[in-house]
Amino acid sequence: MTAWTKTRSEVGGFTQEEHSVPSPGPGEVLIRTKSTSVCGTDIHIWKWDAWSRENVPLGTVTGHETSGHVVALGEGVDSHAVGDFIAVECHLACWACPRCDEGNAHVCENGSIFGVHSHGAFAPYFVVPATNARHVPAGVDPNHACIQDPLGNAIHTLTGGPVDGATVAVHGLGPIGLFAVNAAKAMGASMVVAVDWDNTYRMDLAKDLGADLVLGKDDDVVACILAATEGRGVDNSCEFSGAASALSNA
Ligand SMILES: [Zn+2]
Ligand SMILES: [Zn+2]
Repeated sequence: MTAWTKTRSEVGGFTQEEHSVPSPGPGEVLIRTKSTSVCGTDIHIWKWDAWSRENVPLGTVTGHETSGHVVALGEGVDSHAVGDFIAVECHLACWACPRCDEGNAHVCENGSIFGVHSHGAFAPYFVVPATNARHVPAGVDPNHACIQDPLGNAIHTLTGGPVDGATVAVHGLGPIGLFAVNAAKAMGASMVVAVDWDNTYRMDLAKDLGADLVLGKDDDVVACILAATEGRGVDNSCEFSGAASALSNA
């Protein structure tokens, strides 16, 4: 098979390379790729920044937000059948460290990321541990199933606080922040305040996705939120930008 491979230590530096179709080891499944989305992480790898140079071995087939069909089972796999439609949870965990024991395998002390530290899904086929191949419920558009990884980031952050019946602020309206706006409304938030800097395209999208109040760089964010909540502030303040000013506002 040919697959997009990070082969050169430079900006871009991807080439179509010939790889053999991998065979699933014990506990793994072989997947035929249906859809793979491009993550911000893939942009870092494209730019070949310091983080990428440290983490991504040259020769890696990248791509970690993906879905596909099971086409072969490794030894001992009884959780899946050939033909199952799955989406990948990209955190590869050891299942033996304190973080894994406490149910936080996404921050496993010995963890790695599928499609970053090892071969991923900008390829016709890939293998993953069966535990990382999550069954997709019927009714999800197969072309959208791959995007559940960043959607999961939004839900994980959002559900760190109250949502149903709660007032929620979303700071940072990148794709994950926009997921959070939409998810908060779907999960019954009584009011969602969406905050960005000056990206009017995304601020308009937040409105379309149900935000009750959208604030930007010309607004006094804290004062506006206090005014909208009778001086109490929101019940759940979620930060998705990493910007110091947004962290301070949150
Ligand atoms: Zn990602
Ligand atoms: Zn672990």
